[in-house]
Amino acid sequence: MRVLVVGAGVVGLSCAVRLREAGVAADVVADAAGAATTSAAAAALWYPYRAHPPERVTGWAASTREELERLSADATTGVVLRDGVEYVRQPTGEPWWASAVPRLAWRGGGPAGCAGGWAFRAPVADTGRYLDWLAARLGDLGGSLRHERMRSVAQARAEADAVVLATGVGARELPGDPAVTPVRGQVVRVRAPSVRQWVLDEGHPAGLVYVVPRIDDVVCGGVDEPGAESPEVDAQTARRILARCIDVVPELAGAQVTGHAVGLRPYRPSVRLERDPSDPGVVHCYGHGGAGVTLSWGCADEVTDLITGR
Ligand SMILES: Cc1cc2nc3c(=O)[nH]c(=O)nc-3n(C[C@H](O)[C@H](O)[C@H](O)COP(=O)(O)OP(=O)(O)OC[C@H]3O[C@@H](n4cnc5c(N)ncnc54)[C@H](O)[C@@H]3O)c2cc1C
Repeated sequence: MRVLVVGAGVVGLSCAVRLREAGVAADVVADAAGAATTSAAAAALWYPYRAHPPERVTGWAASTREELERLSADATTGVVLRDGVEYVRQPTGEPWWASAVPRLAWRGGGPAGCAGGWAFRAPVADTGRYLDWLAARLGDLGGSLRHERMRSVAQARAEADAVVLATGVGARELPGDPAVTPVRGQVVRVRAPSVRQWVLDEGHPAGLVYVVPRIDDVVCGGVDEPGAESPEVDAQTARRILARCIDVVPELAGAQVTGHAVGLRPYRPSVRLERDPSDPGVVHCYGHGGAGVTLSWGCADEVTDLITGR
């Protein structure tokens, strides 16, 4: 059976790798790859952010966490494990996705105004390295990555026995899903070797804060702008992001800025992972919001099950 995966972000590449591992001749076609994808802009901390519904997301997140943890043993993947804390302003019960992590501990205190936070060890993917590793893994398994824009599902369908649509925010056109909306994100990358732990503070009065140490740099975020589509880095936004990250993680003060990135999170009220009701040869896998990396392997496994019927 020949399968064409449309999309070379973290979702499409993971699906193609899993299909190949299951013995299916899967190849990828995409009009953008590597640094040109939303996936490249991701922080990319394992964390189920802006993705629904909770029951399915928790299952996908749990299996992805296990797989990313396994990959972190191989330095060439670009995946590392980092301890960190999600701070909250008010004391809360365990987060809805708590069952997806083996150890979650409440820690009192934290930055001004926080009641404490949930501490756990999470995988972080250095997206430049990780997307390259996924593409190379696909190649090692005999798969290819071709650069071309697909104008219709029929065009993709004509090439293969089955098609996987992993088109991210492009799902508005292919397959044409009005439920997908872009949620613009922007991050600042800095050099700060002393920062070793990730921090998330969604309730910061100045806006969303996350600080994610990767291998050579630290990703500082962020913004969360539903409906905004500008791919340009906004300098004022970058300054504001850095200011509030320094407020939460003072060691970032004076850190050298090494880069900026912008991406459009493919938000959908629920991730679409299903066979097309009118064509079982089409499998949809898009709408992962702010959690495409976090859900990637769990979704790739389910796509593979749908294609192979295993
Ligand atoms: C600033 C920021 C920070 C983030 N942080 C995190 C994080 O910490 N953890 C996390 O898990 N997630 C995070 N995310 C979310 C994550 O980046 C997305 O959920 C994920 O990248 C979605 O992956 P994808 O493969 O579906 O989409 P994309 O990466 O957008 O890939 C879509 C692919 O489809 C192709 N395509 C689309 N239409 C067509 C067509 N018609 N023909 C051919 N090809 C087509 C595109 O070229 C591209 O290759 C973040 C996002 C942003 C913007």
